[in-house]
Amino acid sequence: MLPSNLSEQEIQERATGLLRRFFGYSSFRPLQLEIITDAVKGHDLTVLMPTGGGKSLCYQIPALLGSGFTIVVSPLLSLMKDQTEALLACGIPAASVNSLQSEDINDDILRKLAGGKIKVLYISPERLLMEIDRWNRDLPIDLIAIDEAHCISQWGHDFRPVYTQLSKIKEVFPEVPVMALTATADRLTRDDISAQLRLTNHKSYIGSFDRPNLSLKVMVNPGKTQKLNIITSLIDKYRFGAGVVYCMSRKGAEAMNKELTDRGYKSAVYHAGLSADERNRTQEMFSSDRLQVVCATIAFGMGIDKSNIRWVVHNNLPKNIESYYQEIGRAGRDGAKSETVMFYSYSDIITLQSFIEDSGQKSINAEKLERIKSYAESNVCRRRVLLSYFNEIMTHDCGNCDVCTNPPVRFDGKIVAQKALSAVVRTGQKVGITMLIDILRGMSGSELVSKGYHLIKTYGVGRDMSFGQWNHYISQLIQLGMLEIAYEEHNHLRVTSYGVKVLKNEAEVSLAKYVQPDSAASRKGRKSGRQEEPRHLSTDDLLRINLVKAREELAKKEGIAPYLVVNDLVLESIVRLKPRDMEAFASIEGIGERRVIKYWKKFVGEVRKTLGIHSSAASQGATVKETLWLLEKNFSPVEIADIKGVKTGTIYGHIAELIDNDRFNDFPRVISRNNYLKVMDEYQKNPDQAAENLKDEIEYGLVKIALSISKYLLRHK
Ligand code: ADP
Ligand code: ZN
Repeated sequence: MLPSNLSEQEIQERATGLLRRFFGYSSFRPLQLEIITDAVKGHDLTVLMPTGGGKSLCYQIPALLGSGFTIVVSPLLSLMKDQTEALLACGIPAASVNSLQSEDINDDILRKLAGGKIKVLYISPERLLMEIDRWNRDLPIDLIAIDEAHCISQWGHDFRPVYTQLSKIKEVFPEVPVMALTATADRLTRDDISAQLRLTNHKSYIGSFDRPNLSLKVMVNPGKTQKLNIITSLIDKYRFGAGVVYCMSRKGAEAMNKELTDRGYKSAVYHAGLSADERNRTQEMFSSDRLQVVCATIAFGMGIDKSNIRWVVHNNLPKNIESYYQEIGRAGRDGAKSETVMFYSYSDIITLQSFIEDSGQKSINAEKLERIKSYAESNVCRRRVLLSYFNEIMTHDCGNCDVCTNPPVRFDGKIVAQKALSAVVRTGQKVGITMLIDILRGMSGSELVSKGYHLIKTYGVGRDMSFGQWNHYISQLIQLGMLEIAYEEHNHLRVTSYGVKVLKNEAEVSLAKYVQPDSAASRKGRKSGRQEEPRHLSTDDLLRINLVKAREELAKKEGIAPYLVVNDLVLESIVRLKPRDMEAFASIEGIGERRVIKYWKKFVGEVRKTLGIHSSAASQGATVKETLWLLEKNFSPVEIADIKGVKTGTIYGHIAELIDNDRFNDFPRVISRNNYLKVMDEYQKNPDQAAENLKDEIEYGLVKIALSISKYLLRHK
């Protein structure tokens, strides 16, 4: 049962307490608390938030508030496994029932449900539908969450027929609140979800789609070398994180992977053409930080819950904004700064257009392609364009996209435009971009010469500019509508009527100035990053390296992925805050109780070691503080001794000291009334002999505590 009788304030207080205790976060993100409150109050809900927006907590916290268990329907086996492990790492009893483990294990888990030993159960829709008829209606189900709920809609991009049978949930368990969650924005899908699930008195929440920690960058018509430079410098920059290169085709992914492995990077491919085994292995290696990069088609990522993806590159223009946003959204789920770069080549358009020709919904898809194209070509803050696509209005520029950080400087580009346009006319509109640039720059390739282009009047008029510069300007002429690409005619360029006006001096042209890409610098960066350690490591660098190593060791010992020990955002906080004792460690955002207990020693140890602080008298104070911290978390003295690996007597000593200093007064927690009275009795009768007399009956530490209590009571009379 969910505690629906509580007032909103009570629910929110408890929820915040659980957030801190299990997840180590001090506050909720927008909407989370409202959603949790409504769920506890028994409402059906649809929740729309972007990937990485924090949907999971919306049902995990109610699960912890309820007395029974919460079911999470999830279509992806690997995701189920990751999420179960992530919850276990926070100390939350979770399990999943799935086809990857034996039926015995599955049956055992299902049996445990009734016993209240499991708080969160992940299950596939198929399995749920199979079990639901067998289940006792009295099973203590608090809440049913349906993840990736857009799979229910034929309008969505990921329709799964089995999802449509989930309406059965409401038939069988009409009283149990259902929460449907998705990151897919479009309205048709959203309406479909609530209708198909037969949600009653249902409320809808739409979170902001903004992901401020993701930087946005688009490069128009980059060359192959430039692409590779950018990718390798990202790998080098994020040595401890990983990235994904999304490619349009399997062949593209294979080729990119080869380029990267040839250069010594830990890379793998992922696409639908590989066997399930191969794909699982890649996913597994990626999750456990053993790969720096995966070159993938869009098939990759659905089942990835890895929170430390530091960068995403689109090697090609994605087919629509939804897919693009979902794919870049896989970066930075831990909230740490992450980079995204899209390479946009005109040849991508041709390929995508041919896909559209073969697709069922031609006009919708063509419209969607138009929208992503105009995003890629935008001259205003990209985040504003992106969010407005999801009907979210942003009233300021983001400062974290390439347009914001490198605002285009404009100049009168009439001469530049006329040179290019006139060359196009003089070739009889029979050349593509590359040939046009070669003509302008006076190159003498064999095709150029054989077609006689070296004889036209505009040959060589653009020798003063590099290939990259011309490429940049011609791209703008296309975006501005002076030139168009005839996709059906070998991508030849055509001058539009607007272009003709420019040629005739009847229109002004303002172009954005070309900025030299910093490729030399990034090449240098790669060398020092990969082949040798940089010469002067700062304390922070050193600490980071040590912490990453420590994290790997802990992960190995537990057989979990390193980011499940602590994620990158937390790791960076440790580097920044340099906690020197348990208390400081515990106050870091994202470290819940369980992680404090399991990991503080190792991480604080690394901090102290790196800073050259040796354990000494100073650390005694810290251990008393640690004891207090654990007492406040409701651990008993025996448990505290166990966690800290010291004798119980030592902990009793700490407690006595805490009582003497008026820092602890929850006495029944540490000594029974009986024992306390017994000690008092002995000391009243014969103070000199008391300790000796009590020796066999009550531990000396407890006697000390009793004496401290009596002094405390005298002081506070
Ligand atoms: P989604 O399921 O919407 O893709 P997640 O639930 O996986 O997103 O959350 C993404 C990340 O954000 C996780 O690392 C999660 O721990 C973190 N997160 C969620 N809620 C909060 C919060 N209130 N404060 C800080 N971090 C949060
Ligand atoms: Zn911006």
